[in-house]
Amino acid sequence: MSQLQETAALLAQSLRTRRDLLGPRRTGVSRESLERLSKSDLRSKQSPTPNLKSEMPHETRLAALREAVSVCRKCEHLADFRTQTVFGVGNPDAELMFVGEAPGADEDKQGEPFVGRAGELLTKIINAMGLSRDDIYIANVLKCRPDMEPGAPGNRPPIADEMQRCLPYLREQIAIIQPRILVALGKTAMAGLTGTDEAMGAMRGRWFTFENIPLLATYHPSYLLRNGSNTEKRKVWEDMMLVMEKLGMPISEKQRGFFLAGK
Ligand code: URA
Repeated sequence: MSQLQETAALLAQSLRTRRDLLGPRRTGVSRESLERLSKSDLRSKQSPTPNLKSEMPHETRLAALREAVSVCRKCEHLADFRTQTVFGVGNPDAELMFVGEAPGADEDKQGEPFVGRAGELLTKIINAMGLSRDDIYIANVLKCRPDMEPGAPGNRPPIADEMQRCLPYLREQIAIIQPRILVALGKTAMAGLTGTDEAMGAMRGRWFTFENIPLLATYHPSYLLRNGSNTEKRKVWEDMMLVMEKLGMPISEKQRGFFLAGK
Protein backbone atom coordinates (compact mmCIF):
# COMPACT_ATOMS: atom_id res chain seq x y z
CA MET A 1 0.00 0.00 0.00
CA SER A 2 1.38 3.44 -0.91
CA GLN A 3 1.72 6.11 1.75
CA LEU A 4 -1.20 8.01 0.20
CA GLN A 5 -3.42 4.94 0.22
CA GLU A 6 -2.42 4.23 3.81
CA THR A 7 -3.38 7.77 4.81
CA ALA A 8 -6.74 7.50 3.01
CA ALA A 9 -7.39 4.19 4.75
CA LEU A 10 -6.49 5.63 8.12
CA LEU A 11 -8.69 8.67 7.57
CA ALA A 12 -11.61 6.49 6.49
CA GLN A 13 -11.13 4.30 9.56
CA SER A 14 -10.93 7.27 11.90
CA LEU A 15 -14.02 8.93 10.39
CA ARG A 16 -15.97 5.67 10.41
CA THR A 17 -15.15 5.09 14.09
CA ARG A 18 -16.10 8.66 15.02
CA ARG A 19 -19.32 8.48 13.03
CA ASP A 20 -20.24 5.06 14.53
CA LEU A 21 -19.58 6.21 18.05
CA LEU A 22 -20.67 9.85 18.03
CA GLY A 23 -23.31 9.81 15.32
CA PRO A 24 -23.37 11.59 11.95
CA ARG A 25 -24.62 14.95 13.31
CA ARG A 26 -21.79 15.39 15.82
CA THR A 27 -19.08 14.39 13.37
CA GLY A 28 -20.52 16.07 10.28
CA VAL A 29 -19.53 13.03 8.23
CA SER A 30 -22.20 11.96 5.75
CA ARG A 31 -22.70 8.35 4.78
CA GLU A 32 -22.06 9.34 1.14
CA SER A 33 -18.66 10.94 1.80
CA LEU A 34 -17.62 7.96 3.92
CA GLU A 35 -18.65 5.58 1.14
CA ARG A 36 -16.77 7.67 -1.45
CA LEU A 37 -13.62 7.65 0.69
CA SER A 38 -13.85 3.92 1.39
CA LYS A 39 -14.45 3.12 -2.28
CA SER A 40 -11.59 5.31 -3.44
CA ASP A 41 -9.11 3.78 -1.05
CA LEU A 42 -10.22 0.26 -2.01
CA ARG A 43 -10.32 0.99 -5.76
CA SER A 44 -6.85 2.46 -5.73
CA LYS A 45 -5.22 -0.69 -4.40
CA GLN A 46 -3.60 -3.12 -6.85
CA SER A 47 -4.79 -6.19 -4.95
CA PRO A 48 -8.01 -5.54 -3.03
CA THR A 49 -7.70 -6.30 0.68
CA PRO A 50 -10.70 -8.31 1.94
CA ASN A 51 -10.81 -6.69 5.38
CA LEU A 52 -8.83 -3.50 5.50
CA LYS A 53 -9.80 -2.66 9.06
CA SER A 54 -8.68 -5.91 10.63
CA GLU A 55 -5.37 -5.78 8.73
CA MET A 56 -4.38 -2.46 10.25
CA PRO A 57 -2.07 -2.66 13.28
CA HIS A 58 -3.89 -2.70 16.61
CA GLU A 59 -1.91 0.39 17.59
CA THR A 60 -3.26 2.37 14.63
CA ARG A 61 -6.84 1.31 15.24
CA LEU A 62 -6.56 2.12 18.94
CA ALA A 63 -5.14 5.55 18.09
CA ALA A 64 -8.16 6.31 15.88
CA LEU A 65 -10.53 5.16 18.61
CA ARG A 66 -8.65 7.16 21.25
CA GLU A 67 -9.14 10.27 19.13
CA ALA A 68 -12.89 9.63 18.85
CA VAL A 69 -13.13 9.11 22.61
CA SER A 70 -11.20 12.30 23.35
CA VAL A 71 -14.00 14.46 21.90
CA CYS A 72 -16.93 12.37 23.13
CA ARG A 73 -19.80 14.36 24.67
CA LYS A 74 -22.36 11.56 25.02
CA CYS A 75 -22.55 12.36 28.75
CA GLU A 76 -22.54 16.18 28.74
CA HIS A 77 -22.16 16.34 32.54
CA LEU A 78 -19.03 14.17 32.45
CA ALA A 79 -17.56 15.95 29.44
CA ASP A 80 -17.98 19.29 31.26
CA PHE A 81 -16.44 17.91 34.45
CA ARG A 82 -13.44 16.02 33.06
CA THR A 83 -9.91 17.33 32.67
CA GLN A 84 -9.46 14.81 29.86
CA THR A 85 -10.68 11.39 28.83
CA VAL A 86 -8.78 8.36 30.12
CA PHE A 87 -8.65 5.90 27.24
CA GLY A 88 -6.36 3.02 28.18
CA VAL A 89 -2.71 2.08 28.47
CA GLY A 90 -0.41 -0.78 27.64
CA ASN A 91 0.38 -3.20 24.87
CA PRO A 92 -2.03 -2.94 21.91
CA ASP A 93 -1.37 -6.65 21.24
CA ALA A 94 -1.69 -7.74 24.86
CA GLU A 95 -2.76 -11.28 25.72
CA LEU A 96 -4.06 -10.09 29.07
CA MET A 97 -6.35 -7.11 29.62
CA PHE A 98 -7.55 -5.68 32.95
CA VAL A 99 -10.82 -3.77 33.09
CA GLY A 100 -11.59 -1.34 35.92
CA GLU A 101 -14.62 0.85 36.53
CA ALA A 102 -13.78 4.52 35.91
CA PRO A 103 -10.99 7.06 36.29
CA GLY A 104 -10.63 8.76 39.64
CA ALA A 105 -9.14 12.18 40.36
CA ASP A 106 -5.54 11.04 39.77
CA GLU A 107 -6.37 9.35 36.48
CA ASP A 108 -8.38 12.38 35.33
CA LYS A 109 -5.33 14.57 35.98
CA GLN A 110 -2.80 12.28 34.32
CA GLY A 111 -4.92 10.80 31.52
CA GLU A 112 -3.89 7.24 32.36
CA PRO A 113 -5.91 4.50 34.10
CA PHE A 114 -4.88 3.17 37.49
CA VAL A 115 -2.19 5.65 38.48
CA GLY A 116 -3.47 6.47 42.00
CA ARG A 117 -3.19 4.31 45.12
CA ALA A 118 -5.33 1.51 43.67
CA GLY A 119 -3.20 1.73 40.53
CA GLU A 120 0.02 1.34 42.49
CA LEU A 121 -1.37 -1.82 44.04
CA LEU A 122 -2.50 -3.11 40.64
CA THR A 123 1.01 -2.51 39.31
CA LYS A 124 2.43 -4.53 42.23
CA ILE A 125 0.06 -7.39 41.43
CA ILE A 126 1.05 -7.29 37.74
CA ASN A 127 4.75 -7.25 38.71
CA ALA A 128 4.23 -10.19 41.10
CA MET A 129 2.94 -12.14 38.11
CA GLY A 130 6.28 -11.48 36.42
CA LEU A 131 4.77 -8.93 34.04
CA SER A 132 4.97 -5.17 33.61
CA ARG A 133 2.29 -2.63 32.70
CA ASP A 134 3.79 -2.59 29.19
CA ASP A 135 3.02 -6.29 28.71
CA ILE A 136 -0.69 -6.01 29.38
CA TYR A 137 -3.49 -3.56 28.59
CA ILE A 138 -5.55 -1.63 31.15
CA ALA A 139 -8.82 0.18 30.47
CA ASN A 140 -11.97 1.18 32.31
CA VAL A 141 -15.66 0.76 31.57
CA LEU A 142 -15.99 4.56 31.76
CA LYS A 143 -13.55 6.87 30.00
CA CYS A 144 -14.45 9.98 32.03
CA ARG A 145 -14.18 10.58 35.75
CA PRO A 146 -17.69 10.46 37.25
CA ASP A 147 -18.57 14.02 38.27
CA MET A 148 -18.63 15.13 41.90
CA GLU A 149 -20.13 18.07 43.79
CA PRO A 150 -17.60 20.93 44.02
CA GLY A 151 -15.23 20.24 46.90
CA ALA A 152 -16.62 16.73 47.53
CA PRO A 153 -13.87 14.29 48.48
CA GLY A 154 -13.07 11.01 46.72
CA ASN A 155 -14.65 9.49 43.67
CA ARG A 156 -18.02 7.96 42.87
CA PRO A 157 -18.81 4.79 40.91
CA PRO A 158 -20.43 5.24 37.49
CA ILE A 159 -24.20 4.84 37.15
CA ALA A 160 -25.83 2.37 34.75
CA ASP A 161 -26.75 5.02 32.12
CA GLU A 162 -23.20 6.35 31.97
CA MET A 163 -21.83 2.82 31.59
CA GLN A 164 -24.28 1.99 28.81
CA ARG A 165 -23.29 5.08 26.84
CA CYS A 166 -19.56 4.45 27.26
CA LEU A 167 -19.51 0.67 26.80
CA PRO A 168 -19.21 0.71 22.98
CA TYR A 169 -15.72 2.19 23.42
CA LEU A 170 -14.58 -0.62 25.71
CA ARG A 171 -16.17 -3.20 23.40
CA GLU A 172 -14.24 -1.71 20.49
CA GLN A 173 -10.98 -1.67 22.49
CA ILE A 174 -11.43 -5.36 23.30
CA ALA A 175 -12.37 -6.17 19.68
CA ILE A 176 -9.18 -4.46 18.47
CA ILE A 177 -6.76 -5.87 21.06
CA GLN A 178 -8.31 -9.36 21.07
CA PRO A 179 -6.74 -10.38 24.38
CA ARG A 180 -6.68 -14.07 25.28
CA ILE A 181 -7.91 -13.26 28.77
CA LEU A 182 -9.91 -10.47 30.40
CA VAL A 183 -9.83 -9.71 34.11
CA ALA A 184 -12.67 -7.64 35.57
CA LEU A 185 -11.56 -5.66 38.60
CA GLY A 186 -14.56 -5.44 40.90
CA LYS A 187 -18.31 -5.52 40.77
CA THR A 188 -18.81 -2.44 38.56
CA ALA A 189 -16.48 -3.76 35.86
CA MET A 190 -18.33 -7.10 35.96
CA ALA A 191 -21.68 -5.29 35.75
CA GLY A 192 -20.43 -3.31 32.74
CA LEU A 193 -19.06 -6.34 30.91
CA THR A 194 -21.75 -8.90 31.69
CA GLY A 195 -24.74 -7.04 33.11
CA THR A 196 -24.60 -9.18 36.25
CA ASP A 197 -25.53 -7.91 39.68
CA GLU A 198 -24.05 -10.83 41.65
CA ALA A 199 -22.02 -10.14 44.78
CA MET A 200 -18.27 -9.98 44.19
CA GLY A 201 -17.63 -12.62 46.84
CA ALA A 202 -19.67 -15.08 44.79
CA MET A 203 -18.10 -14.13 41.44
CA ARG A 204 -14.40 -13.86 42.20
CA GLY A 205 -12.22 -16.72 41.09
CA ARG A 206 -14.84 -17.83 38.55
CA TRP A 207 -14.51 -17.80 34.77
CA PHE A 208 -17.14 -16.05 32.69
CA THR A 209 -16.97 -15.11 29.02
CA PHE A 210 -17.18 -11.83 27.15
CA GLU A 211 -17.55 -12.18 23.38
CA ASN A 212 -16.04 -15.67 23.64
CA ILE A 213 -13.04 -14.38 25.59
CA PRO A 214 -12.49 -16.00 29.02
CA LEU A 215 -13.24 -13.39 31.67
CA LEU A 216 -12.11 -13.77 35.28
CA ALA A 217 -13.68 -11.74 38.07
CA THR A 218 -11.55 -10.59 40.96
CA TYR A 219 -11.67 -7.91 43.65
CA HIS A 220 -10.87 -4.31 42.75
CA PRO A 221 -7.47 -3.24 44.19
CA SER A 222 -9.25 -0.53 46.21
CA TYR A 223 -11.06 -3.34 48.04
CA LEU A 224 -7.64 -4.65 49.09
CA LEU A 225 -6.65 -1.14 50.21
CA ARG A 226 -9.66 -1.21 52.55
CA ASN A 227 -9.40 -4.91 53.56
CA GLY A 228 -5.72 -5.65 53.27
CA SER A 229 -5.54 -8.86 55.28
CA ASN A 230 -3.39 -11.65 53.89
CA THR A 231 -6.56 -13.76 53.51
CA GLU A 232 -8.10 -11.26 51.06
CA LYS A 233 -4.77 -10.62 49.29
CA ARG A 234 -4.37 -14.38 48.87
CA LYS A 235 -7.80 -14.61 47.20
CA VAL A 236 -6.78 -12.06 44.56
CA TRP A 237 -3.41 -13.76 44.19
CA GLU A 238 -5.10 -17.14 43.64
CA ASP A 239 -7.19 -15.48 40.93
CA MET A 240 -4.01 -14.19 39.29
CA MET A 241 -2.49 -17.67 39.41
CA LEU A 242 -5.58 -18.95 37.54
CA VAL A 243 -4.85 -16.33 34.88
CA MET A 244 -1.17 -17.31 34.74
CA GLU A 245 -2.07 -20.98 34.37
CA LYS A 246 -4.52 -20.25 31.57
CA LEU A 247 -1.88 -18.21 29.76
CA GLY A 248 0.64 -21.03 30.19
CA MET A 249 2.95 -18.87 32.32
CA PRO A 250 5.35 -20.64 34.71
CA ILE A 251 4.54 -20.22 38.41
CA SER A 252 7.46 -20.57 40.81
CA GLU A 253 7.26 -22.16 44.26
CA LYS A 254 7.87 -18.72 45.72
CA GLN A 255 4.93 -17.30 43.77
CA ARG A 256 2.71 -20.22 44.83
CA GLY A 257 3.42 -19.32 48.45
CA PHE A 258 2.55 -15.60 48.32
CA PHE A 259 0.25 -14.51 51.18
CA LEU A 260 -0.02 -17.99 52.70
CA ALA A 261 -0.02 -18.08 56.51
CA GLY A 262 3.51 -18.09 57.90
CA LYS A 263 5.13 -16.90 54.65
N1 URA B 1 -10.18 2.68 39.74
C1 URA B 1 -10.61 2.23 38.53
O1 URA B 1 -11.51 1.41 38.45
N2 URA B 1 -9.99 2.69 37.46
C2 URA B 1 -8.99 3.56 37.49
O2 URA B 1 -8.47 3.91 36.45
C3 URA B 1 -8.57 4.00 38.76
C4 URA B 1 -9.16 3.56 39.87
